[in-house]
Amino acid sequence: MAISSYTDTRLLINGEWCDAASGKTLDVINPATGQPIGKVAHAGIAELDRALAAAQRGFEAWRKIPANERATTMRKAAGFVRERAADIARLMTQEQGKPFAEARVEVLAAADIIEWFADEGRRVYGRIVPSRNLSAQQLVLKEPIGPVAAFTPWNFPVNQIVRKLSAALASGCSFLVKAPEETPASPAGLLQAFVDAGVPPGTVGLVFGDPAEISSYLIPHPVIRKVTFTGSTPVGKQLAALAGAHMKRATMELGGHAPVIVAEDADVALAVKAAGGAKFRNAGQVCISPTRFLVHNSIREEFAAALVKHAEGLKLGDGLAEGTTLGPLANARRLSAMSKVLDDARKTGATVATGGERVGSEGNFFAPTVLTNVSLEADVFNNEPFGPIAAIRGFDKLEEAIAEANRLPFGLAGYAFTKSFSNVHLLSQQLEVGMLWINQPATPSPEMPFGGVKDSGYGSEGGPEAMEAYLVTKAVSVMAA
Ligand code: NAD
Repeated sequence: MAISSYTDTRLLINGEWCDAASGKTLDVINPATGQPIGKVAHAGIAELDRALAAAQRGFEAWRKIPANERATTMRKAAGFVRERAADIARLMTQEQGKPFAEARVEVLAAADIIEWFADEGRRVYGRIVPSRNLSAQQLVLKEPIGPVAAFTPWNFPVNQIVRKLSAALASGCSFLVKAPEETPASPAGLLQAFVDAGVPPGTVGLVFGDPAEISSYLIPHPVIRKVTFTGSTPVGKQLAALAGAHMKRATMELGGHAPVIVAEDADVALAVKAAGGAKFRNAGQVCISPTRFLVHNSIREEFAAALVKHAEGLKLGDGLAEGTTLGPLANARRLSAMSKVLDDARKTGATVATGGERVGSEGNFFAPTVLTNVSLEADVFNNEPFGPIAAIRGFDKLEEAIAEANRLPFGLAGYAFTKSFSNVHLLSQQLEVGMLWINQPATPSPEMPFGGVKDSGYGSEGGPEAMEAYLVTKAVSVMAA
């Protein structure tokens, strides 16, 4: 596939693309080459003030449009996203690194998410509650909460925005997102679809700049009524505290450390295919990536050998090159993080069954890695590696595996492989996670809740729960006059 040109990204304020008044920009780097490929505008306070005023006006206009017309506009935007999927995906691969096929699937999934929420927005029902006084009628109304400030990361530049954006717009809110400075062009492609579909100016806005400066300005600002963040747990805790201090509703989709429990009776080939595929997708830079492989000791060696074979079968390369199944890490920070994880794993006694090192000296390529005999003290078993590293430990009793799965403060995704109904029952009841996939890879869909428990955050980005996050409830009692 030919390398296509990459475009510079501007700010979207009041329905128009613009530069920062200061002219300030940041470089965008292609992680496959380490070379700059474009620039992104860097907003200052003046741009944030304009974006906030536009979000307020956008909210007033958008909320007055009937839900079925809003759904039509959203469906039109989904159509543009689908039509432009290959172009948006090419931008994403160049700025983020993931293989083009994965990027394209992400963009096509975004169209599906927009459509699902568009329809869900038509079913925001209130209710009538029988009154204790027969002359009175009691209504429960659901209303949009107001302008939303969203903060999204670089690992799924489109998907992380679209779940928030779709639920917000379907609920009647306006939406201002600080998208990732490292991967700005594919988010701009997503938002352009909404501009082209005809949302009123200010209904959607896009800014980039200094993440801490922007969040500390937007979250307390009186225009913003709801905050939504996806990223690391430490940053999520800071933003949640700020939102709390200003009484802003918040959704926090934070880090995980997903256990994969492979029971004695598991189909090993299925477990390797499903969990191995999920592990190395997006080079492991996924909040629901399988990370702690807990395998029954009777099949541990067989499982490890098969996972090593799977890892060695991946083709590492530029995401735009034909046949690439594993791209570079998205930024140089991840590369040094992987080296630290590996140093610590070796020091704490792990065996590097395959991979374990950087590949080449250009770009952020890291070999798909499988570690065995991993100690519970190893960093990789305590902090999510957020990279292409699978760490394996054995267990004898399922209860031990469940205790290990629940040991950490995180509780986002979990995976299990077993043929026994009683194991399924026990795992479903006892694993402290927000999402559990049994005998299958992760299959997030717009209709299913998506979110975590414990330090992995709160709130959901799927299903009707995702809409609730953008709605407020008003109780109205009317007495016949
Ligand atoms: P980081 O923790 O500094 O940033 C994570 C994300 O939060 C980035 O998108 C960043 O722009 C944003 N961010 C940081 N400080 C912010 C602030 N004060 N206000 C608003 N946004 C802010 O580090 P990083 O190097 O980008 O990523 C490292 C870790 O973050 C990973 O190891 C992983 O644990 C986590 N992460 C999680 C997800 C996820 O999907 N849950 C995505 C990306 C990164």
